[in-house]
Amino acid sequence: ESPDAVIEARGLCAGYGAVPVLRDVDLVVRPGELVALLGANGAGKTTTLKALAGLLPPSRGSVFYRGVRRSDSLASRSRAGLAYVPEERGIFRGLTTLENLRLGRGDPAVALELMPELKPLVRRPAGLLSGGEQQMLTIARALAAEPAIFLCDELSLGLAPIIVERLLTFIRTAASRGVAVLLVEQQARAALLACDRAYVLRRGQVAMSGRAADLLHRFGEVEGQYLSG
Ligand code: ATP
Repeated sequence: ESPDAVIEARGLCAGYGAVPVLRDVDLVVRPGELVALLGANGAGKTTTLKALAGLLPPSRGSVFYRGVRRSDSLASRSRAGLAYVPEERGIFRGLTTLENLRLGRGDPAVALELMPELKPLVRRPAGLLSGGEQQMLTIARALAAEPAIFLCDELSLGLAPIIVERLLTFIRTAASRGVAVLLVEQQARAALLACDRAYVLRRGQVAMSGRAADLLHRFGEVEGQYLSG
């Protein structure tokens, strides 16, 4: 194991029923690191996050959280400092922005300080927020809890590039304060520009990994891993 890892997967295998998806995934995220998890549709990115979060038990291999092997639930890992934003964002559309913030582990006032754009929206039902505003809500809610690790699935899904830029800057700031971040991203180039390191999954295996700057230099190869999926 890596002694300084916040979260670590070792030989992680997981799937759905009899269907194996992940095969021997090794992955580490350290404090203050912003790490991208890239790959084609169906490569296993969401499955990896679910296994790290405690939503999917490994069939083989282990997940370590701050050096301790864990097999507990998402709720238990959340209490221990893990924040997870799923692809479907986990917003209650009929509740207001403020009510949604109150459902988080952190202080709503802290969330609003982190993301002042939400202040004029506190009384609005979350279902009436734009996609970008909803993503601001989920991310501010997650980071207000001051997690040790932040797992975020498909940050940019359906959002305009300028909003994605704002969210990435926001998450970079959180990382610079010490949060370990693992981002699943469909937009590989944007993710590599924003992140420190990246893993590229192909058919449930880590096909490439390294510093984001190095992977940008080899972007043809990175894209090749997508096309040959
Ligand atoms: P995407 O970007 O399309 O979300 P992904 O890399 O996140 O892709 P996963 O969602 O992890 O990929 O899916 C990996 C594989 O597992 C796919 O073949 C998918 O069909 C399968 N899969 C995902 N969820 C389930 C499930 N609940 N039951 C059975 N198979 C599933």
